[in-house]
Amino acid sequence: MLDLTTIRSELGSHYDLEPSLDLAERMADIHARMGRVMPWPDWAIHAPYVAAINQLKKERGAVVLAHNYMTPQIYHGISDVVGDSLALAIAATQVEAQVIVQCGVHFMAETSKILNPQKTVLMPDMAAGCSLAESITAEGIAEMRARYPGAPVVSYVNTTAEVKAASDICCTSANAAQIVAAMPGDTVIMTPDKWLAQNVAKQVPQKRVVWWDGACIVHEQFTPQDLRDFRAWNPGLKIIAHPECPPDVVAEADYAGSTANIQGWVETERPKQVMLVTECSMASNISDANPDVEFLGPCNMCPYMQKITLEKVLWSLHSMTGVVEVDPKVADRARLAVQRMIDLSQRLAA
Ligand code: SF4
Repeated sequence: MLDLTTIRSELGSHYDLEPSLDLAERMADIHARMGRVMPWPDWAIHAPYVAAINQLKKERGAVVLAHNYMTPQIYHGISDVVGDSLALAIAATQVEAQVIVQCGVHFMAETSKILNPQKTVLMPDMAAGCSLAESITAEGIAEMRARYPGAPVVSYVNTTAEVKAASDICCTSANAAQIVAAMPGDTVIMTPDKWLAQNVAKQVPQKRVVWWDGACIVHEQFTPQDLRDFRAWNPGLKIIAHPECPPDVVAEADYAGSTANIQGWVETERPKQVMLVTECSMASNISDANPDVEFLGPCNMCPYMQKITLEKVLWSLHSMTGVVEVDPKVADRARLAVQRMIDLSQRLAA
């Protein structure tokens, strides 16, 4: 567990982190990317951290990979690459920097380490887990294999390195249906997200999809009635759901897709009003790029993603702590499952 009192005192002796409107104004170009959701007084608090991290990144030869669910000050302020799990996994294979700071949750940092065994991967808070990743172990995969002999195992990237190593191939919410459709045999095991598996099963009726009983604590909170209520209150509202939501929620939506697909849909369709049925930071992060679109809806935040803060990123880079390690033998097998996913999804997209 990070000792924030000690961290604050140590950081305060090395950097000027006092809120500064003057600095905030000098960094107005960065603020312009998130002006709709970031009042100036808040930006005056974040700007000193953003300035310190961006300077330290240069000194350490580091890049920041940030998931779409990061807060706007991380997403727009310090990131070099942003995207969904698949985009970050691919970016992790392409960066030249020797230090990767993963702004996301632990399984994402493990994936970066698996794909970059020679590089230093920093996780600003090791406690940033994921309800899906924590729902299954390698023993769970063995249990499913025993229950459905011969069926290939497709594991969501939201899993630990050990679970990936025990799987045949990985998938993300963006490519899950294509990956499952490409598997040999009639039956495909999907782990650990039961809702993603059930949504995929509808898209790939030629396969018998069986699943593990895991769920995302953010997406399973939405109900079909929530969506119906918002439609009734806002006639003409478009609703976009993430496929980690239960199928009856997805059925109420106008479109379902991964975070990257949600972003693409909003940019192409430009609805007057839209509700994103996913983690709340997503709407904040794409708001300024779509000034003519009004984003409505409840704000469900992922408590794991919210553990990553500018302060913890600065500490991690300053102290070079939070180094992610994966047992090399586990990493070798997990890499096969991730690389099969990257190769197959690139082949299918070609
Ligand atoms: S939003 Fe859900 S799937 Fe994503 S990290 Fe949080 S708990 Fe895990």
